[in-house]
Amino acid sequence: MSFSLMIHGGAGSASGKVERAAARLKDSMTRVLEEGRRVLEHGGSALEAVQRCVVLLEDDPLFNAGRGAIPNRDGNFELDAAIMDGAELKAGAVAAVRNIRNPITLARLVMEKTPHVLLAAEGAAAFAKEHHIAIESDEYFREGRRVAEDAGEDDYDRAKAHGTVGAVAFDKNGNLAAATSTGGWTAKMPGRIGDTPILGAGTYADNRSCALSCTGRGEDFMRTRLAAHAASAAELLGLNANDAAKRAIHYLKGRVNGSGGFILIDREGNCAAAQTTELMRHGWIQHGGPAHASLEAAIKI
Ligand code: ASP
Repeated sequence: MSFSLMIHGGAGSASGKVERAAARLKDSMTRVLEEGRRVLEHGGSALEAVQRCVVLLEDDPLFNAGRGAIPNRDGNFELDAAIMDGAELKAGAVAAVRNIRNPITLARLVMEKTPHVLLAAEGAAAFAKEHHIAIESDEYFREGRRVAEDAGEDDYDRAKAHGTVGAVAFDKNGNLAAATSTGGWTAKMPGRIGDTPILGAGTYADNRSCALSCTGRGEDFMRTRLAAHAASAAELLGLNANDAAKRAIHYLKGRVNGSGGFILIDREGNCAAAQTTELMRHGWIQHGGPAHASLEAAIKI
């Protein structure tokens, strides 16, 4: 069986700034895809591949996650992340964590080492310490923002800046996995948690249907439990990636005038991406083929 992999670097609005950063964004996404390909080609699991890709995206200040995270209203960096294994519906997530270099690594540890799915607040920080997770100063994140601004890939509209990173994969054994990580929205209230760490809202994977990673106004994805909506439609109606993506993006738009997009791989390794926004930074390798990166999804409404 051949593998498939998709990644995203967030939905958003088009602007001169993003256009200027387009080449760099696509280069970066292509590099991440090739790294993910190495994992999957050598028989690595979908879970390993999505974690690896999201770690790389978190370390790249061009994207709103990890090092490039956007601050909240008080200037602090509160990060959300989730990872899910579609084979056994195992999952781990963290919400509003601070100073964690790679929140997705912490989410994976929640999945592997605790009986829980979602950790937040002091407990998440203590758990990270216990497992010697890499911690960074606030300055590391502030510096990441400066690099993003210099590259031009920054707040096209400061008041509305957002973004997220994510990956979904289908491995040679037919297993699906999803991972998502974000800094959320600029000037979000302290303590605000978005859709990213909420399974069935911003992140979901089930071998019986599909794997999704979403980006956009998290509240819209939570109110529509968008990822679960797509997965249920794929499973119960037997939809392929393209049809499930179309159905879900129309639901998001029609039901709450939702803003955002997602990447999706179905149980046969077919890839689809959809958006209601002007941009959807994403890339894909379908059935082991060439890597593609694009700022617009094929399904755009
Ligand atoms: N979905 C993220 C959140 O609401 C932000 C984004 O993807 O733009 O936290």
